[in-house]
Order: sequence, then C-alpha cells, then structure tokens
Amino acid sequence: MGRKKNKNKMGPILPEKKSGISGEKLIKDDIESNNSLNSSSKYPIDIISRLSYPFIKPSEKDIISEDDEEEYEFNFRPRLVFSCNLCLVCLKFCDSSASCEACGMVSYCSVKHRQENLPQHKDLCKVLTEVCKTNKGLLLAKDLSPDQYRTFRVKLIETIEKGLGRSLDLWEKEIILYPRLCRKCHQREGLLCCPKCRMDVYCCEEHRGDHDQWCDQYQLFRRILSIQKSHGNVVPELPNRRHKEPYTLPQNLDHQIAELFEFSQYYKKMDCHTYASLSHIATVPLTTLFAIQKSYENWKTKKDFSVDIIGAEFHFDCWNLRIWEKMFLHYLPALNSLTLTFTGPELQVPQVLVEILAKVKICTQCRTSGRSISVTFNQEKLYHEIDDLTGLNRPDVICLFNPGLYRETGFNGRDTWPLTIRKFCKKKIPVVITSYTEKEIPQDIQRIKSVSDVEVILEPQKNPFAALKPDRNFVSDDTVPLMYKNNFITIIQGKI
Ligand SMILES: [Zn+2]
Ligand SMILES: [Zn+2]
Ligand SMILES: [Zn+2]
Ligand SMILES: [Zn+2]
Ligand SMILES: [Zn+2]
Repeated sequence: MGRKKNKNKMGPILPEKKSGISGEKLIKDDIESNNSLNSSSKYPIDIISRLSYPFIKPSEKDIISEDDEEEYEFNFRPRLVFSCNLCLVCLKFCDSSASCEACGMVSYCSVKHRQENLPQHKDLCKVLTEVCKTNKGLLLAKDLSPDQYRTFRVKLIETIEKGLGRSLDLWEKEIILYPRLCRKCHQREGLLCCPKCRMDVYCCEEHRGDHDQWCDQYQLFRRILSIQKSHGNVVPELPNRRHKEPYTLPQNLDHQIAELFEFSQYYKKMDCHTYASLSHIATVPLTTLFAIQKSYENWKTKKDFSVDIIGAEFHFDCWNLRIWEKMFLHYLPALNSLTLTFTGPELQVPQVLVEILAKVKICTQCRTSGRSISVTFNQEKLYHEIDDLTGLNRPDVICLFNPGLYRETGFNGRDTWPLTIRKFCKKKIPVVITSYTEKEIPQDIQRIKSVSDVEVILEPQKNPFAALKPDRNFVSDDTVPLMYKNNFITIIQGKI
C-alpha cells in the first residue's frame, strides 16, 4: 500500500512562482484590500456547486511541493460499495428490472455484468435467496417501527452469516442494511425512485417525505462513488501557506479552503470527490484548532501544543499527518512544537509505515527555524491502559472524533468507555467530542456525566469544519439518511 516515489529534481519552488500568477495575485489582493462584493470569484465554491465538475487529474494540479525529496504516497483502493439502484459491477444506474433473478437483492446494468459477477455472487446469492425469498425475509419488514426495522436488519445479517459460515464484508452487509424498500413503510411493491438523484426509493409521494432536503447530498454521494470507481482515492495537493500572524479560522471549511488555496486554478477546478477527500483529511486538524481557539485564551502565543487523539483509526486520522503542518502549524507562527499522540484499540499502523509516518515531513522554512511535529502511536491500546506513572503526559487538548460514547457495546463486546471517560476527565483539560449526527452528541454528554463531573465549555453545535463526504447512516436512517464525520461538536472539561 505504501509506494515509494522519487519526485523530479526541480529545486525549491515557492508558491509565489506558480504559473498563472497575475490572475491569482489579482484575486488575492482583492480579498485582502477590497471588501465590496462585486466579484463572484471571491466567493468560496461549495461542494454541491462542484457536482458537475470533471475529475481533476493530478497532472492538472498547479501547486508544486517546494521540497524535492522522496515522498510517500498511499494508494488505498476504495472498498466496494453497494447501492440498490446501481450496478454492482460498474455503479451505473439500473432499475429494479435489472435485479438478480434469484435473490432480487442486487442489480446489474447488463447481462454481461451479471455474468461477470456470478462467480463472486453465487454463494451469497444462494443464502440471500433462501432467507429473503423462500422465508419471505424482507417482506416481514413492512410496517415495522424504525427501531424494529433496524433490529430486523441486524438480525437478518446474523442469519445470513450463519448460513454462509463466515462474516459478511461491509459492502455485503449494505445489501441488507440499505435494501430496495420504501424508507418509510419498508414495502417493496411499486417503488418509485427520485428522478434527480436516483438514490432514494419510496412507495408513494407521501412517503417521499423530506427527500428534497437530502436530494443534493444523495447526488453528491452518487457522484463521489462514481468518480472514486473510475479514479480511485485521491490525495489532494496541499499548498504551503505560512501565516505571519496567528490565523483565526473563518466561518467554515469552504472559506478556509478558499483562503488556503488563494482561489488558485486548482481550487477553482477541484471536483467534488477531490474536495470531499480534502475535507476528510482537513477536518481533523481544523476541528482541533477550532476547539483550541474556543478554549485557550493564549492560543496565539502558545509555543507548544500537545494533542491526544483517542479512538484513532489509521485510515481517518493517521495516514496523512502532513496536513497538521499545512492546517495547524502554519496557522500559528508562535508554535514551535506540536505533539500528537494517537491511541485506539483498533489503531493498527503497518509496521513498515510506523517510522515513516511518525517522522512528519515539514517544509524547509519550518525545519530551519527548529519547529517540529512529534507523533506517537499507541496501537491496539485503550486510553486508560497507557502508563501515565510519570505524570509527564499532560496534553493541552484531548480529541475524540465520532466515538459514539453513548454505545454500551464498546470494543469486542466489553464496555470500556467508563474507564476511559474517567481518565480523560481527571486531566481537567478541554475534551473535544464530535459525532456523525445531531442526535448522538447529547447522548455522548449524558454518558460522560454518568461517569464524571464535567462542565460543558462549548454547547453541542454543528461543526463548521466537518467533513463533506457523505456516507449512509444506519442508526437513525428514518430521519437522517446521510451522515458526515465530525458533523457535530461539543467541548467538555472535567471539573476541578
Ligand atoms: Zn454495470
Ligand atoms: Zn442474487
Ligand atoms: Zn412507503
Ligand atoms: Zn433525489
Ligand atoms: Zn512549514
């Protein structure tokens, strides 16, 4: 998965020497000196506006890294995704008439793709047919309450796994979690499909419900799946923009990205998949910085920051740590040393990458002025298990991104949260908690309060620096069909 790549020797190139400089400069000067709102080019281009943009190939990037050393690129192949209206092989739209004749649960755009997929689908199809057709499995979902319907689907997965004698992959689970049934009454007769996004199905106009509120996001979800299918995951280019003055974060991520890229050509052309991927890596440092600006009066002058990230996941938090330079270190000119400690029972960093990732590459100017980013991975460890005998570990802020603290199923069936909650509350420092949906955050706070005495520094609210990549939501799918990482935020602190 790690690929070593030698970049062309080009010598240091500063961002000011980019091509197309005059146009860029003009816009930049506009932003700084002219507040009149007559130039449309200075409005951020949000992700929905980028829906129709063609994929921006890496060669079209107009930003060149100023270092010419070896760079590691991580190419993770995107996982398979199931959607009931899309061909399992090519993700093209297809209606119910194209369903697998046997199980009726998956669709194909053509006979060719059906045949192509047969070897992989065969075993699962047999069990699906037995459970869903012979035993009237999915027909039993009709008119269940939202909670009953969720339990029903979880149980169905268990039955299928038993029948298959193995656990299902994520995309296979999606066949059961998001089947072609009306989202309201869960029946399968005479289903209609939204003609715009073609991603949501309902049995009648009434059961279409609040779909219009989600249609744009469904379109985005589908468009990202489609670009991802053809071009794989992308690693967005990151400009080097060092600030001489402490940077107060703007109103939201769209504004921040526009400012970071100074409305460059690359910025103007970024497709929604690239933009979503950028938001996905940026949300981690920006949400942390946002929390620091909310809870530390001296954030502008502080010389070191130490951040503990609890429940870290390699694919979300850890693989692109250079983002911490571009969107954290470069925003705080007084900051000399940034310490990041990632801990989590599910954190697994491939052995060959531990050293490479922990040595975060920073730009020449930061390096020569003695600034540093130190990284520690506490792999497969729970936060409360980490030795803290010396008392030396005093982070300034603790982050829990999308932890789902309210869940009592915990890790491997053990509810380990109470011990972790007690430990981070005892430190009496700001603790940032985020969630996928609005509903979860108050439940998280309630969970913390059931263990420790805390005060809420920042009331639960929409996180302006949430990720913009939609994913389907299961836990409250009747009201919120799509969700985003770090979507809602709160800050708490153990009471002194
Ligand atoms: Zn196809
Ligand atoms: Zn089938
Ligand atoms: Zn219905
Ligand atoms: Zn729609
Ligand atoms: Zn730097």
